[in-house]
Amino acid sequence: MAYFITEDCVICGTCWEICPTKSVVEYDWYYKITDTCVECGACARVCPNTAITRDKEKKAKEGKNAGA
Ligand code: SF4
Ligand code: SF4
Repeated sequence: MAYFITEDCVICGTCWEICPTKSVVEYDWYYKITDTCVECGACARVCPNTAITRDKEKKAKEGKNAGA
């Protein structure tokens, strides 16, 4: 499963700069990761706000309509 950028993103651009496959793109009010991601994990390691995860549950928890 590919990585996701969550709402914790502070739009610093570090992941965009470091991605070796240019898989981080500007999107709406933050960034998103595209299908060309090779899951190297580099972006997740450098993110200052731990906004990049491959954990879908964490992403859902941070979403506006999480849980039930
Ligand atoms: S490194 Fe983290 S905070 Fe910075 S733009 Fe990427 S996801 Fe957002
Ligand atoms: S995991 Fe690697 S390839 Fe995928 S978006 Fe992050 S830096 Fe790019």
